[in-house]
Amino acid sequence: MNTRISCLLAAWILATALPLPASAAWLDREEAIMGTRVYVQLWADDPDKGDAAISAVMADMRRIDNLMSHYKPDSQLSQINARANFEPVQVDKELFDLIKLSTHYSQITEGAFDITYASVGHLYNYPAHIRPTEEQIKAALPAVNWRNMLFDDVNHTVRFEHPGMRIDLGGIGKGYAVDRGIAILKAHGIRHALVTAGGDSRFIGDHMGRPWLAAIANPDDPHNPLKVVTRIPIADAAVSTSGDYERYFDENGVRYHHIIDPHTGHSATKVRSATIIGPTATQTDGMSKTAFVLGPEKAMEIINRMPEYDAVFVTPDGRMLYSNGLRPAAPRPAGAPPAPPSARSAPPPTPTATSPRAQP
Ligand code: ADP
Ligand code: MG
Repeated sequence: MNTRISCLLAAWILATALPLPASAAWLDREEAIMGTRVYVQLWADDPDKGDAAISAVMADMRRIDNLMSHYKPDSQLSQINARANFEPVQVDKELFDLIKLSTHYSQITEGAFDITYASVGHLYNYPAHIRPTEEQIKAALPAVNWRNMLFDDVNHTVRFEHPGMRIDLGGIGKGYAVDRGIAILKAHGIRHALVTAGGDSRFIGDHMGRPWLAAIANPDDPHNPLKVVTRIPIADAAVSTSGDYERYFDENGVRYHHIIDPHTGHSATKVRSATIIGPTATQTDGMSKTAFVLGPEKAMEIINRMPEYDAVFVTPDGRMLYSNGLRPAAPRPAGAPPAPPSARSAPPPTPTATSPRAQP
């Protein structure tokens, strides 16, 4: 055997003896972080790298929780709640920016979204079935007003201008964490993925060649995947659903739940659930409380004015309301010429993909 042939043979023997590279696959993982279910699903050309990408997302979620949780006494957010009534409290730019951004959502939702809701919100304890009395609400309510947060853009400080003020980012922090998760996955070269935290999800690419499907839970049977009220095909977008069935207790036929009307201090009851679809999960999370407080008509007016958003609301009497972008096209009048191919709606996708909340 000449040298060249023997070298080739040796190389071939070596190659066949080495373990084959693991093949591309869908990977997923679920963890409990930020007091909720965090779920990541992705397509990985290399499963080891995909797994590392998921670990990086989970680690970042824990980092955000440590920084922003109002349940953790050592978090920077808890430092604000402890001291901002007396002095400006300096925090990391990341937290400062998110708190400031929350005031943008207060502005566009006419105050329906207001992180200072927590000044009264902290008086509720849903697992313990505790709610404030009318007197307690009346005393706490004047502290609810996002305009009473003072920001120093240079030193990244926050100060409260009214006694008794508190904030919590429960209404926007998960959306923010989901966006960070997607950015981390993209930096790892992932092109098809879903990241979910609580009611907030964001999708990139497709799912096995089809659009991802976001399922909207039935408020009366929210954990039953067979009872979802609708599924919406999604590509490269975020979806947030807020529902009155997530954290609540019922007392004498009244539901006390976790979305609070900043104007009254009571649970906001104008819809049972609100789903917002938009470019980022920070945006959709910031908008998903609006319909509860302002009512479905007013909230839909706001959504329909913003071309990059869509919405689905379930009303207390069980109606489903869709934003203009999701409404089916009106039926063609009899005798009208056929629609051009591009205007015809695509066939509905098969419900295979993962959806927020309803099922992994
Ligand atoms: P999830 O946390 O499951 O995504 P939501 O997006 O519906 O649920 O957010 C609900 C949370 O928002 C509440 O638990 C509370 O922390 C916060 N919140 C409640 N009412 C308001 C409000 N009016 N403005 C801003 N945040 C609110
Ligand atoms: Mg949310």
